[in-house]
Amino acid sequence: MAGILVIAEAADGALAPISGELIGAARKLSAEGAGSVTALVAGDAALAQGLIAAGADNAIAATSANLATGTADAYVPAVEAALAQSGADVILLGQTSLGRDLGPALAFKLGTAVAMDCVELKVDGGKLRATRSAYGGNARAEVGFKNSPAIATVKAKSFDAPEGAAGSGSVSSIDAAGEPRVKVTGTSRAESTGIRIEDAPVVVAGGRGLGDEGGFRMLEELSGLLKGATGASRAACDLGWYPPSQQVGLTGKTVSPNLYIAVAISGASQHMAGMAGSKNIVAINKDADANMVKVSKFAIVDDYKKIVPALIEEIKKLG
Ligand SMILES: Cc1cc2nc3c(=O)[nH]c(=O)nc-3n(C[C@H](O)[C@H](O)[C@H](O)COP(=O)(O)OP(=O)(O)OC[C@H]3O[C@@H](n4cnc5c(N)ncnc54)[C@H](O)[C@@H]3O)c2cc1C
Repeated sequence: MAGILVIAEAADGALAPISGELIGAARKLSAEGAGSVTALVAGDAALAQGLIAAGADNAIAATSANLATGTADAYVPAVEAALAQSGADVILLGQTSLGRDLGPALAFKLGTAVAMDCVELKVDGGKLRATRSAYGGNARAEVGFKNSPAIATVKAKSFDAPEGAAGSGSVSSIDAAGEPRVKVTGTSRAESTGIRIEDAPVVVAGGRGLGDEGGFRMLEELSGLLKGATGASRAACDLGWYPPSQQVGLTGKTVSPNLYIAVAISGASQHMAGMAGSKNIVAINKDADANMVKVSKFAIVDDYKKIVPALIEEIKKLG
């Protein structure tokens, strides 16, 4: 195979976490025979140098100001130029607002296909194969590619950024970009307090079994003591008990904390799709047959209203 082109992303002048995860995915494919890893980022050479430090073999800084819009029509010519320069036959993007738009646009322009929202990637018989959720999260589908380049968007938190990476590759620049047809009139940041749920080492998540939004205040106290974040099932978010930005699952965030405490969450496959990668799952549920209890490392089968306050008291005693 001829190499992998990673479309990295930056925010506030720094590489976004998805960039390291994409390089992690690309390094895995490279080890399986997919060739060298080139990463492209909109920005200057210093930002691109960060991609080398993150584990890319080569980095390209795409310097056109048009890319600041983050729209596919601006990005397609930049990616085509990077593809010509790198000779890659695999393109990896994040399943982000950029990747969701750019992946299909590139596939159309390059006469190939895109596999969206992939959670696993591998090289098989000299070709990329990608795994993603199917049937509303109840099954996983593995897909291959007939044409080249093979394009895949990768779900956040599906791959780890390479550890202790410190590459020594070269940085080049291109200024190709399209004229954006979309005018960005403003941006606003989603309100969030404390640690991002995707980055939290501990997540305490609540479900419909909490009974009302007041239950989340209790979970927030627990997650605060554990220096973590609070999450929710879709059922709880749909009831308006917690912000959709904190929803975990197939149609929410993907998290892989060291500790995931699922409080009054049944463990539907669509919820599991967002947290099954957690290192330790603890279930608090009054139903011993709930799926979350079955998949958990430790389960407390009882009413959360008894268990969570007791846990809070014990943790407070530990200081
Ligand atoms: C296409 C699609 C996408 C979806 N995406 C998502 C997604 O991203 N995230 C997601 O979460 N869901 C998603 N869902 C919904 C999913 O199928 C489930 O409906 C949802 O996860 C159920 O949420 P829940 O576990 O909070 O509620 P329930 O299934 O109602 O479970 C409540 C649990 O609380 C327990 N309980 C009740 N009272 C107490 C108590 N006092 N103490 C302790 N335990 C108690 C019960 O035993 C039960 O296990 C999606 C569904 C579809 C079709």
